[in-house]
Amino acid sequence: MAQIISGKELAARIKQRVSSQVEELKAGGVNPCLAVVLVGDDPASAVYVRGKESDCRECGIESRMLHLPADTTQDQLLEQLKQLAEDRSVHGILVQLPLPAQIDEQAVIAAIPPEKDVDGFSPVNVGRMMIGEECFLPCTPAGCIEMLKSTGMPIAGKRAVVLGRSNIVGKPAAMLLLRENATVTICHSKTENLAQLCAEADILVAAIGKAKFVTGDMVKPGAVVIDVGINRDENGKLCGDVDFAAAEQKASFITPVPGGVGLMTRAMLLVNTIQAARRQTGR
Ligand code: NDP
Repeated sequence: MAQIISGKELAARIKQRVSSQVEELKAGGVNPCLAVVLVGDDPASAVYVRGKESDCRECGIESRMLHLPADTTQDQLLEQLKQLAEDRSVHGILVQLPLPAQIDEQAVIAAIPPEKDVDGFSPVNVGRMMIGEECFLPCTPAGCIEMLKSTGMPIAGKRAVVLGRSNIVGKPAAMLLLRENATVTICHSKTENLAQLCAEADILVAAIGKAKFVTGDMVKPGAVVIDVGINRDENGKLCGDVDFAAAEQKASFITPVPGGVGLMTRAMLLVNTIQAARRQTGR
C-alpha cells in the first residue's frame, strides 16, 4: 500500500518558511506584494484567486486584487499590466487564466516583466528554465518536484513518464524532471502504447484532465505517482487523473486529490513572490 504524499503538510511547511521570510523582508523595510489580475466572472477562476489572496494574507504578503470586467479589451489589460510593471511596490504579477476570447493570452503573458512573472509562464522565464538559468519556475511543476523530493526516493537515473504536454504543466514538468536527471518520456493524445509506457515508469506524473484515466495496471509496482489532474467523477466528487484506489495498491508513494498537487501549486506561488521581492530589492 502506497504512502500518501500530503500536499497539506508540505504546503504548511513551505508557508511557515515563507512567513518568516516575509518577516525578515518587512524588518528590512520591504513589504512583499503580489498583484492578481482577474478578467471576467469565471467561477473557477474566482475561487482560485480567492485562494491566492487568502494564502498571501496567511503569510503576511500584501495581495492587490484587480478585477476587470469580462469585456475588457486586450489594450486595456495591457495598459493595466504596464502600470503594475512600473509600480515598484508590486513585486509579483499574476494574470489568472483562462482569459476571455477577445484577449490573446500569449501577448498578455509576454507583457509581464520576467522579474515579476511569478507564474513563470513568460517566454523569458520558460527559456531560462530550458537552459538552466535562474528563473521563476512554474508553480505546479515545481510543486510536483518538491513532492517527489519529499519521498526521499532518488530521481536521478529513474524512468519518468509525464502524461500531458501543456505549456503550464506537462512540458515544464518534463523539463524539471530532466533537470533532476530523470530519463523522461512525454505522452500525449497521439502517443501509441501509452498504457505500456506508463507501466514502465518509476515516476508517473499525470496531467491530462481526464478523471481516473490512469488505471491500476498502468502503474509499475513501487512507482511514485504524482496526480496533477483536477476533475469531477461520475458522482460530482473531486478526483485526479489517476484511479487512486487502484493505484495506491501498487505505488510506493502517491499524491491525493484533493489535498495534493493543488496545495503545492499555491505554496510555490508564495515562494516565487518572496523570491521576486528579494531580487527586486537586492535582499
Ligand atoms: P491541457 O488540457 O492544457 O492539456 C492536457 C494534455 O493532456 C494535452 O497535452 C493532451 O494532449 C493530453 N491528453 C488529453 N487527453 C489525453 C489522452 N486521452 N491520452 C493522452 N494524453 C491526453 O491541461 P493542463 O495541462 O492545463 O491540465 C491538466 C490537468 O491538470 C487538468 O485536470 C487541470 O485541471 C489540472 N491542473 C491542476 C493544477 C494543480 O494545481 N493541481 C494546475 C493546473 C492544471 P494533446 O497535447 O495531444 O492534446
